[in-house]
Amino acid sequence: MVVMKFGGTSVADQAAIERLMAIVRRQRERDVAEGHGRRGPVVVVSALSGVTDRLLGVAAEAGAGDAEGATHTLQGLRARHKTVSEVIADAAERAAAQADIDREFDELERVAEALSVLREVSPRWFDTIAAAGEILSSRLVAAALASHGLDGAWIDARQAVVTNGDHQAAAPKYPETTAQLMALANPLLADGKVPVLGGFVGATEAGVTTTLGRGGSDFSGAIVGACLGAREIQIWTDVDGMLTADPRVVAAPHVVPHLSFAEASELAYFGAKVLHPATIQPAVAQNIPVRILNSKRAEAPGTLITADRPPSDRPLTALASKKHVTVVDITSTRMLMAHGFLRRLFEVFERHKTPVDVVTTSEVSVSVTVDDTRRLPAIVEALSEFAQVDCEPAMAIVCAVGEGLQQDPTLVGHVLQALGDVPVRLLSQAASRRNITFVIPEADVPRALGRLHDHFFAPAGAARA
Ligand code: ASP
Ligand code: MG
Repeated sequence: MVVMKFGGTSVADQAAIERLMAIVRRQRERDVAEGHGRRGPVVVVSALSGVTDRLLGVAAEAGAGDAEGATHTLQGLRARHKTVSEVIADAAERAAAQADIDREFDELERVAEALSVLREVSPRWFDTIAAAGEILSSRLVAAALASHGLDGAWIDARQAVVTNGDHQAAAPKYPETTAQLMALANPLLADGKVPVLGGFVGATEAGVTTTLGRGGSDFSGAIVGACLGAREIQIWTDVDGMLTADPRVVAAPHVVPHLSFAEASELAYFGAKVLHPATIQPAVAQNIPVRILNSKRAEAPGTLITADRPPSDRPLTALASKKHVTVVDITSTRMLMAHGFLRRLFEVFERHKTPVDVVTTSEVSVSVTVDDTRRLPAIVEALSEFAQVDCEPAMAIVCAVGEGLQQDPTLVGHVLQALGDVPVRLLSQAASRRNITFVIPEADVPRALGRLHDHFFAPAGAARA
């Protein structure tokens, strides 16, 4: 069985839900054609796009005592969900869905009013309000699928996904969630139904509503897939997949067809964040392939992410860059043959809660990059007590990622050669040899990435190394 997760833009309006239905229908036909039978898919949906932000706004308004503002926002959301419910073909089912929408919003308005009297919204209430987005969208999609001959059947995520009580960032309890999901979904699947549940949402064993954190629907998709033993998890979004480079920097990047989980993790830091790799960890741990697909271009092949990846004819998988970083050079002869120096140095960054990204060392100096420079003056002052410190702003990190780096020890040379006269300030390659990372002046990013992309990502068939 396949789990299909649809993000906010893939359920944004009637047209989006029509596309979703066509995609589910095609998956069902494909399952039968490929001999998997009529089992699933299981559908996991986000709230309609923008709704979670609005609901959190309602909670904030209520907390500030602005009952009128909260009610006004809720009225807009009520109307939008009613409009989208027109996608339900059957008149009786549409009326039932609209009654559900009214009940949910009546309740939300009462909650917002009460909270605005108290002028305080606890994390627990934040979650109860935020969860409404996925509860509503999943009911709508289930009814739409049912009324279009696709056997949609709603599952309440608050009964299916069992979490701890860390509101707004709850962690799933896997044994309990597996048991609940199996009890709720398996009978429906056996019956040829398409179970639909909201992402992002769960509940504690005591039944208190929780959420998994912003963007948590991808995580839900992976949890559901892992707990039900799916053969594939599809993440339907509004882009074609992961790209070989940022389209704002490189003229014509291609979609990366296949990525290992480690490669996806390396790229995520650079903002190639079609999804946060941590969210698909449960799937990867069980070797379930995750596919990123575009619901507006369903025929596009997308990007496949798996724990390992078969070798490809391209030595590199993708390029990424990050501007606005500062290089901090820390030099001290006391470091020579001494131990404990690095600890002392990194403790300074830790004390100032400033993450360090690239690190390179020699016997008497350490260079690091930081992109959050708010505490840099204090950091420099503390480091200056035992070392000479120089800062260089307006730098950029460029990262070339590829499992192919492990096979070809000469690739670093090729990368540097392709860079030509671009001055490289730091260079780092870990023993895992999955990426080469270097730091260059920010102004050189376009020509550096352009040259690397030309060299390593020439049109298919013309790959060079
Ligand atoms: N609706 C939630 C959010 O906007 C979860 C998600 O869409 O992934 O964060
Ligand atoms: Mg998302």
